[in-house]
Amino acid sequence: MTEPASTSDKKSLLCKRSNDTCQFLNEIVELRKEVSSLTELVRTDALTGLYNFRFFNETLALEMERTRRGTQPLSMILLDIDHFKKFNDKWGHELGNHALIHIARLIKVAIRKLDFPCRFGGEEFVVLLPNTDLRQALSVAERVRELIETSPLSVDGQAPISITASIGVDQFTSAHTESCESFIRRVDAWLYRSKDSGRNLVSYPDLRGLRKLDSVTQEEKNALFGAVGNED
Ligand code: GH3
Ligand code: MG
Ligand code: MG
Repeated sequence: MTEPASTSDKKSLLCKRSNDTCQFLNEIVELRKEVSSLTELVRTDALTGLYNFRFFNETLALEMERTRRGTQPLSMILLDIDHFKKFNDKWGHELGNHALIHIARLIKVAIRKLDFPCRFGGEEFVVLLPNTDLRQALSVAERVRELIETSPLSVDGQAPISITASIGVDQFTSAHTESCESFIRRVDAWLYRSKDSGRNLVSYPDLRGLRKLDSVTQEEKNALFGAVGNED
């Protein structure tokens, strides 16, 4: 049920007649509330409450653009629950859904406030970490992996059920010229490295190859990518 419009809600709206009994005031306040709850729905995954795939794609494009125009890297963590088909086969789809909600909660606990936790689809999750380089993202990813490993799912009358997840991590910097899809593919390749290497692991590129981003000047970037005069 919708709450009646409060005085403070109304104060933010200026009635041209300066009249608190303006017939449109309540309606506008209600419509605003409706728009904000619909906006929330459109970007939320119904099962887990994380951001959905649509929101992920929009945010990825936006954050990559921000990185291209600045110097701050963007990192991505892609996570896939291990042997989840077996989990469903053994425990049933409904408990499988509970497991997905459980993992979503753990991801939320382990990341920072400014990160974007999203459901990528099925039993896969993705976290976007703006202004975060690969080293920092790795410590977040390892925290997520460890928290999942050490937080078995509690079920009434049963021993807790262990769940693990495999993770891939990589970063996008202003030195990269790729598309969103290509960045996702890079991170996905690291996720599959974790699967191939035995699961319950975090995989990522060789850190020795990383150059300290702060040391890349705008002039160097311009020289590299011919961006002079193309910075609208
Ligand atoms: P791997 O360790 O290689 O990732 O193995 P896996 O079994 O997790 O991977 P696979 O892709 O074979 O299976 C994914 C499973 O996830 C199968 C599918 O039924 C289950 N799944 C996907 N979405 C949902 C969902 O919303 N709820 C439930 N309960 N299960 C889901
Ligand atoms: Mg999968
Ligand atoms: Mg899986």
